[in-house]
Amino acid sequence: PELTKEDVLRKAKDLDVQFIRLQFTDIFGVLKNVAITIDELEKALDGELMFDGSSIEGFVRIEESDMYLRPDPNTFTIFPWRPNQGAVARLICDVYNPDGTPFEGCPRGILKKVIAEAAEMGYTMNVGPELEFFLFHTTEDGRPTLETHDKAGYFDLSPVDQGENARRDMALALGQMGFEIEASHHEVAPGQHEIDFKYADAVTTADNIVTFKFVVRTIAQRHGLHATFMPKPVFGINGSGMHTNQSLMKDGKNAFYDPNGKLELSEIAYYYIGGLMKHARAIAAITNPTVNSYKRLVPGYEAPVYIAWSPRNRSPLIRVPAKRGMSTRIELRNPDPSCNPYLAIAVMLKAGLDGIKNSITPPPPTDRNIYTMTEAERLELGIESLPGSLAEALDELEKDEVIKSALGEHVYSRFMEAKRIEWDNYRKQVHQWEIDQYLTKF
Ligand code: GLN
Ligand code: MG
Ligand code: MG
Ligand code: MG
Repeated sequence: PELTKEDVLRKAKDLDVQFIRLQFTDIFGVLKNVAITIDELEKALDGELMFDGSSIEGFVRIEESDMYLRPDPNTFTIFPWRPNQGAVARLICDVYNPDGTPFEGCPRGILKKVIAEAAEMGYTMNVGPELEFFLFHTTEDGRPTLETHDKAGYFDLSPVDQGENARRDMALALGQMGFEIEASHHEVAPGQHEIDFKYADAVTTADNIVTFKFVVRTIAQRHGLHATFMPKPVFGINGSGMHTNQSLMKDGKNAFYDPNGKLELSEIAYYYIGGLMKHARAIAAITNPTVNSYKRLVPGYEAPVYIAWSPRNRSPLIRVPAKRGMSTRIELRNPDPSCNPYLAIAVMLKAGLDGIKNSITPPPPTDRNIYTMTEAERLELGIESLPGSLAEALDELEKDEVIKSALGEHVYSRFMEAKRIEWDNYRKQVHQWEIDQYLTKF
């Protein structure tokens, strides 16, 4: 149900809201806040609140820095961990230029553009993410460590698992904010957790991902823990992924489902898979946008390495879960939670639409374990790999006009510039591994 400006004003009054945070993300997915008081809410809802865009990384040059925030009334929600009296609420915003046009550097706007392209073809996208994260202990002065409770529990013989308690509170807080929690469990690695919430349309899900990360971090802190969505914080154990389940709806039906199709999948589903696979190497720059992302995408840790799909097996990049009918969906397994969810969903959808537009047929499914194949066997089957590093992914993005067009020139060029610098800074470092290998050897 769509909320109006009046609904929000009334709710804010009824709930005794004192402060509102106007939220949006920069191109790297970092959540930004402009805090206002209840007295400014009406003006804000009219889209009249201005902020200095030059203060935000990747936004605008200094000489054109005035930007306007247009809050989306449907995103109004209270922070349940704050006091009931003088409550704190938030609104997620779209960013606009002073002349009233949408700002081309707004990730939410970019996602909306690709959604409009899908709508022109008669499709709406649904997305259900699975976010994994680690909970680490903090020091006396609040700094995060790499020590997990599972390990520490060994020594302190505490009867309760601090991590489980924190995760329960996270699920509770998210529930109070309107999330429908579908699963919440400890993951494979020590200190690693996953909380899954119900799928929704693409923009709502991207909003939810941003909110989710913020809530998980906040509640962890209140438990004296540090939550991290860094893809691979510890060598030698599983990293954290953000498997992304996606489907298209057309005329009220799931467009991926066809009871008479091969594997009960429609032609559209196959083309969508074909598009995702074709653009997978370029998409990685957006869905796995950090140096660290590529430390996760290695064999042996349940994360994908090869570009293949399967209806059964969990090792490939794309899995088609067994559910059919309205639940028919495709699970893309390489995204990680360090991505900007608006841009990540935008490029995934763009790739799928390209598959549909150009009838890109995917190769047959791979039901064997790709990890036990030799390189020659993979080559023969035409199974390619995901990029092995951020640098390689950026090179792929540079070559992919379809994915670049989804991002638009503004975001593409700023993203590229910043990520090249990030890679270069990393490349120049001397890592502990090198010291261990070479210091005494040479
Ligand atoms: N943590 C694994 C990853 O990096 C996924 C584990 C799982 O959910 N099966 O993607
Ligand atoms: Mg899962
Ligand atoms: Mg998982
Ligand atoms: Mg999964």
